Amino acid sequence: MDRQDRIKRLLNYKNLLYQLQNLGFVKVFSDNIADALGVSSSLVRKDFAIFGIAGSQKGGYEIASILAKINNILGKNQVQKVILIGVGRLGTAFLQYGKGFTDEGIKIVAGFDIDPGKIDEKAAVPIYPMSNLADFIRDNDIKFAIVTVPESASRQVIDILKAEKIQGILNFTSLKIKSTDETIINNVNIEHELARLIYNVNQKNKEPHD
Ligand code: NAD
Repeated sequence: MDRQDRIKRLLNYKNLLYQLQNLGFVKVFSDNIADALGVSSSLVRKDFAIFGIAGSQKGGYEIASILAKINNILGKNQVQKVILIGVGRLGTAFLQYGKGFTDEGIKIVAGFDIDPGKIDEKAAVPIYPMSNLADFIRDNDIKFAIVTVPESASRQVIDILKAEKIQGILNFTSLKIKSTDETIINNVNIEHELARLIYNVNQKNKEPHD
């Protein structure tokens, strides 16, 4: 969990540093980062030390070199290949969102579906039958997968992905599946997110106004 939190903070550092760079700043101190993000400066320094980002007490950190290091850590300097299982309504939307992901160094390289009617090996992002899945993962050294199959098929599909040594899964089905030592599974439940949002808005509206 600690590592996940640190990665989240790294993303926040990255966004802030790009903003500062756009404003013309070249260097930054851990205090500035800490103030902007509402964390302690010792935590910022600890995070940077853990990730091997060096700076000096007096001179601060060079923004460009921290960004290069962070992008390297986040794997943005090499394209991360992702496959998608279940090319239905949601899956198709992801496949068609190609450019948006490419900007972030992420490329959905193939879709897979059980329905022969969905197979289109000549599409911009090719869609293959499930029987091709294992070979494709091995031949293309795939580590990440998005799962957009119906809930009833999600456990079976995730078991197949785990057996093929997929290391990271983004699961959009409503079935919450636990990570294992070998595979990190992030469950995205849009319904729960919406319910949480509605609850928060309603709570806010209940607060007395001045
Ligand atoms: P969909 O029915 O349109 O598509 C599902 C696809 O998965 C189909 O193409 C189907 O052939 C394929 N599939 C079924 N079993 C499979 C298997 N064993 N292996 C490989 N492919 C298989 O569904 P959808 O609306 O795209 O939703 C997909 C998932 O995302 C669902 O679990 C749904 O609950 C969840 N979800 C959807 C939305 C949405 O807005 N559509 C929102 C939130 C969550």
